[in-house]
Amino acid sequence: MDTKAFKRSLNSSENYHRKGFGHDAEVADTMQSEYQSNLIQEIRDKAYTLKRGEVTIRLAQAFGFCWGVERAVAMAYETRQHFPTERIWITNEIIHNPSVNQRLRDMNVLFTPVVAGQKDFSGVEQGDVVILPAFGASVQEMQLLNDRGCTIVDTTCPWVSKVWNTVEKHKKGDYTSIIHGKYNHEETLATSSFAGKYLIVLNLAEAQYVADYILNGGQREEFLTKFKNATSVGFDPDRDLVQIGIANQTTMLKGETEQIGKLFEHTMLKKYPPNELNQHFLSFNTICDATQERQDAMFDLVKEKLDLMIVIGGYNSSNTTHLQEIAIDYHIPSYHVDCVERILSRDRIEHKPLHQDLEIAENWLPEGEIVVGVTSGASTPDKVVADIIERIFALKAAVLT
Ligand code: SF4
Repeated sequence: MDTKAFKRSLNSSENYHRKGFGHDAEVADTMQSEYQSNLIQEIRDKAYTLKRGEVTIRLAQAFGFCWGVERAVAMAYETRQHFPTERIWITNEIIHNPSVNQRLRDMNVLFTPVVAGQKDFSGVEQGDVVILPAFGASVQEMQLLNDRGCTIVDTTCPWVSKVWNTVEKHKKGDYTSIIHGKYNHEETLATSSFAGKYLIVLNLAEAQYVADYILNGGQREEFLTKFKNATSVGFDPDRDLVQIGIANQTTMLKGETEQIGKLFEHTMLKKYPPNELNQHFLSFNTICDATQERQDAMFDLVKEKLDLMIVIGGYNSSNTTHLQEIAIDYHIPSYHVDCVERILSRDRIEHKPLHQDLEIAENWLPEGEIVVGVTSGASTPDKVVADIIERIFALKAAVLT
């Protein structure tokens, strides 16, 4: 499929919308009242620190809703206003935040059901309006919806589109896209659908395995088994790693993406003469500013003396998980929660340890004066963060009274 030609024709279709519908002012007011918080504004105004009773909150200087997410949510609200009677679907969670997704359900936006791991579009009919989420949709999904005569409202973040353009460039030059990401993350699924040949690496260890294979060869079958869910159809490591380009899921750890890029650059420099590097290796900066800012702010925060860290965000939110990884690397007790209800009591919190299932931790809130670091992923409204901070204040205050 000529994905570039398809996108071009979609862009010129009157049933395809990539901008809002002119209801921005009303939507901004609604979003302000539903998602903003006076408490968070107060903490921002006080240099990101607030002390009440025995608790000092240290808020990361960049956290929460990024502009790409805010834009996507605003477009979804506008879509509802603009199409008050039409059936509206969304192909996936608009963003990885349960409260925002619930709010859309309340507005009668339907979520495409998933049956046996596959999205089921059988209920979507001609004339329906379909919203594509901030992290995009695969080109096959777009084509299906277009063929079915739906109105498509595409909220894909421009940073994600930038990565798609990058893999299109790889494809044009016959480079294999090496995508730093999670093969089953929606954004990476969408990105790989625009790529020609591709290989998805999760982390530096996997990238090192591939680099070793490029330099020294190896067990072809072992390679294919290891990456069986993470390669394009017919991928051959002996044939398809001669020309490579780097791309990424926008929410991966920035430092790791950079390391992976450098690793492959050095690998190609070892394998081929330096003056041929451009024929074998392409790299563009596709890390989104918002992810980078949140990670940088987290690195600043964890240098301080914190008794514990609360990382707030959806459990399937990749950028939130990466924030928690930073806390763990700095040996700070950290709890990843997605809403205030996870704080069960003074002694019990339901949280998600890194790469594990939900569990309940006991005695999570230390006695006496404490400093609590707080951050949240790019899909988390300020209001969720404020509710959690208020709850911590209340629990500690209750001990004093
Ligand atoms: S985290 Fe970055 S890429 Fe993702 S929606 Fe936000 S601005 Fe866009």
